[in-house]
Amino acid sequence: MDDIIVIGAGPIGAAAAQHASRLGMKIRIIGPNEAPRATHQVWSSHYDQGRLAHRSARNVELARWALESMERYRDIEQRSGIDFYRACGTLSLSTSLETFSYTRMRADLEAALEFSYTDYPIGTVSGRFPMLATDIPYAGVFDGPPSGIINPRRMVAAHLILAVQNGAQLERDIVTTVTPDASRVTVQTIDGKTFQAARAIIAAGAYSGLSGLLPSPVPHTVKSETVTLAELSQAQAETLIDMPSMMVDCADEILSDAYLTPPIIYPDGKWYLKLGSNSIHDCFFDTPAALQQWIRGGDVAATHSAQIALIRSLFVGIDWLSFQALPCVITRTPSGVPQITKVHDRVATMVGCNGSLAKSSDAIGRVLVETVLA
Ligand SMILES: Cc1cc2nc3c(=O)[nH]c(=O)nc-3n(C[C@H](O)[C@H](O)[C@H](O)COP(=O)(O)OP(=O)(O)OC[C@H]3O[C@@H](n4cnc5c(N)ncnc54)[C@H](O)[C@@H]3O)c2cc1C
Repeated sequence: MDDIIVIGAGPIGAAAAQHASRLGMKIRIIGPNEAPRATHQVWSSHYDQGRLAHRSARNVELARWALESMERYRDIEQRSGIDFYRACGTLSLSTSLETFSYTRMRADLEAALEFSYTDYPIGTVSGRFPMLATDIPYAGVFDGPPSGIINPRRMVAAHLILAVQNGAQLERDIVTTVTPDASRVTVQTIDGKTFQAARAIIAAGAYSGLSGLLPSPVPHTVKSETVTLAELSQAQAETLIDMPSMMVDCADEILSDAYLTPPIIYPDGKWYLKLGSNSIHDCFFDTPAALQQWIRGGDVAATHSAQIALIRSLFVGIDWLSFQALPCVITRTPSGVPQITKVHDRVATMVGCNGSLAKSSDAIGRVLVETVLA
C-alpha cells in the first residue's frame, strides 16, 4: 500500500508528487502521457509551450504562491536538468488601470511582496516597449523579473524527474474511480489496475469533477478557452526578444482578459506568439464527451477572428505568416480563486485553476500535500 497516490500528472499533481516524495513516503502518481487531440481520452490545461508567470493576482495569498514558485524555478531547473523559465517580466495593459482586475490589488501586493510596479501612462507604453504600436489605447503597469514566462510541459517534466529521483512511482494510466473508506483509498484505472494508499490527492484538472473522481463536490465550472498562435519568422521573432509576457484588459466587444506570450518555438519548429482570452462565445461543459468534442474540433471561428484583429492592432512591423486557433479548457470557481480542500478525511484536491495557476503549481503542490496530511 502507498502512503499517497496523486491522481493527475499535470503541473499541480507533478509538483505535489515532488513535494511528497521528499518526505520519505511511498508515493505513486498516475496520469497519462500527452495524446494527440484527435485521439485523446483526457485533455489538460497545460499542453502548451508558454504560460505567464507574474506576481499580479486576485489576492495576496495567490501572489505569495506565485512568488514562492518563481523563486524555486532556477533550483528545479538545475536539479532536474530541464530549463523552462524566462524572467522577461509581465506588462499589464488597460484603458483604466484602477479597474484592471489584476492590478487593482496593487498596493496590497506591493506591500506584502516588497516590490514595485512601474507605470506607463497612455501614450508612453511604446516608448519603453517599442514592439507595441504607438496608438494603442492603453496604459501599462510593468511587473519586472522574476515575473516572465514558463514552458509548462517542460516544468511538469522537471517536477516528475525530481519526484521519480526521490522514489515516486509514475504510472502512465487514467484513473476511473477513487473510493475512500475509513482505512484507505482505493483507486482503479482504465488499464484494469487497482492501487491502494493511506491518502490521495486528486489533481486531474477539468476531469476531477467531470469524471466524477471527487468523493464530495466542490462548486466549479469547466469552461472553453480559445487561443490563437500567430506565426512569425525567426528573424522577426528575434526582434521581439525583449518583449515581456502581457495581459490586456482589452476594449473589445467579443474578447476580455487577453494574455500574450512573447514568440516561442513550438514542437513543429516554428515561432509563434500566442494570444488567449475570454470570449462572449465561450461555453461550458458538463460531461467528458462534451469536452472531448470541443478539444477535437470546437467552433473557434468568431473568437479567432477577434483575436487576430487584437494581435494586429497591438504590434507594428510584423509580417504574420499564419494564424491558427486551438480549443483549450480551464476550470473556474465562483470566487475566482482556487479551492484547496479536503473532500474526504483521506483525500485532498485543488479545483479551479481559473486560468492562472501553472506558474504557482510548485507552491500549490506543497499546500496540497500539507492539506492531505493534516
Ligand atoms: C489557454 C490557457 C492559458 C493559460 N494561461 C496561463 C498562464 O498564462 N499562466 C498560468 O499560470 N496559468 C495559465 N493557465 C492555467 C494553467 O494551465 C492551469 O492552471 C494548470 O494547467 C492547472 O494544472 P492542473 O495540474 O490542475 O491541471 P491540468 O494542467 O489540466 O493537468 C491535469 C492532468 O491530469 C490528467 N488527468 C485527467 N484526468 C485524469 C484521470 N482520470 N486519471 C489520471 N490523470 C488524469 C491530465 O492528463 C493532465 O495531465 C492557462 C490555461 C489555459 C487553458
